[in-house]
Order: sequence, then C-alpha cells, then structure tokens
Amino acid sequence: MTKPTPLIAGNWKMNGLAASLAEAKATAAGLGDTTARVAICPPATLVAQAVYALKGTRLAVGGQDCRAEASGAYTGDIAAEMLADAGATLVILGHSERRAGYGETDALVASKVQAALRAGLEPIVCVGETLEERKAGQALAVVTGQVRGSLPADLAGKAFAVAYEPVWAIGTGLTPSTAEIEEVHQAIRATLTEVFGAHGATPPILYGGSVKPSNAAEILHASEVGGALVGGASLKAEDFLGIIRAL
Ligand code: PEP
Repeated sequence: MTKPTPLIAGNWKMNGLAASLAEAKATAAGLGDTTARVAICPPATLVAQAVYALKGTRLAVGGQDCRAEASGAYTGDIAAEMLADAGATLVILGHSERRAGYGETDALVASKVQAALRAGLEPIVCVGETLEERKAGQALAVVTGQVRGSLPADLAGKAFAVAYEPVWAIGTGLTPSTAEIEEVHQAIRATLTEVFGAHGATPPILYGGSVKPSNAAEILHASEVGGALVGGASLKAEDFLGIIRAL
C-alpha cells in the first residue's frame, strides 16, 4: 500500500494582516527539499494576496471555511468557488471552532465538503473529541462518528485529508500521548477503509492540537500520522519551518 504524501497545513485563524505575508514568504523560502506538501490557510481577506505573494513557490494556499452554496444572499459568507477563484487549492472544513461556535453539524460539514469538491478544492476535514468525551471513554466513537457523518460518499477517489484535532488540545499546549494519537489515527484509517474501500488508504490523516517544533518529530513519526494541522505555530516562519523540518 502506498503511503499518503504528508501534508502540513497552517491555520492562521483570525490572525494576519498584509504585513504577515512576509512570514509566509519566509516559510516558502525555507522549505528546502521537504517531501511534504505544505500550505497556509490565512484569513479570507489575505487569500488572493497570499497566492500572488507565493507564486512560483511550493507553499499552497487554502481557505478556513466555505459555505455550501455557490452564490446567493448569504451576507458575509464565502463560497468554495470564490476561494478557488482567488487561487486557493485547499479548504479547512468542520474545525471545532466552527462546530462549537456556529453549531456546524456533521451534515453541514458534509455539504461543505461537496461544495469544495464542486469547486475543485481539496478539503481538510477536522474531527475531534472534547475533554468530557475523552474522559467518558467516548473518543473513538465520537471521532469515527464524525468521520462517517462529515465525509460524503462522492469523496471516493478524490484528494482530501482528515485532521484529528482533540478539542482540548487546540491552543492549550496540551497534547495526547503518542499512543493515544496512534489509537485514534488507526481508528480513523479503519473507518476510511470501511467507507471508501481501497481509496480509504490514500488520504493523509493529520494531527492537530498544540503542535510545535519541540514535539513535532514525535507526533509526525507516529503510526498513521500523515502530517499536521498547525494553528499558533504556523504564524511565525521559524516555528512553522521547525515543524516541517521535523518530518
Ligand atoms: C487548530 O486550531 O487547527 C490548531 C491545531 O491550533 P493550535 O496548533 O494552536 O493548537
């Protein structure tokens, strides 16, 4: 079975002004001969500028969310087609900050995934349990349930990634043990294979939640970890490159 090409994506969240693109350019300049695919997902206001600034480099640009519809009276929202038109090639969907803050359900995330496919974007679909769910012994059931509910059948054979992001590890400095990460990633892989057959072996399964240069090597080399979704540490080129180089 061919191993998926690792993907390391930076989620800038609601951080970054035009001047911050200097960090993205420094990241691109420092990629060297990494075997990973690397991307940054800046706020929507910076997507087109980032694409322009990073032209000719190996650093791809993604969005952080999209609406399921292609156009219409949805004030403030952004269609997958608009991200693609601005030059994005990926989009993060179902991040826990959107699931928790905006009530996004698995079904809504699945419809956004379909929108991403329609627009030719590669979705990075986030799943992850809360601390209460982990303490109650429900982590695997929650995560595999989210995988089943958030990934529509038409993803079969398409480029996509799943990001396992325990909610309690995001922005907290806490991380699960390597054994805990491996247990969840193996369960996600088994679910992908069950749902998509042979195609389920190809999508990279990223880990996200307080990844930094000092813990990246251990996390990135864990079994079934096919890259990382990095929040805070992706804002500074030095930190992001420290993670990329740990692969
Ligand atoms: C994230 O929000 O996707 C994330 C992983 O954040 P952090 O790396 O800051 O924990």
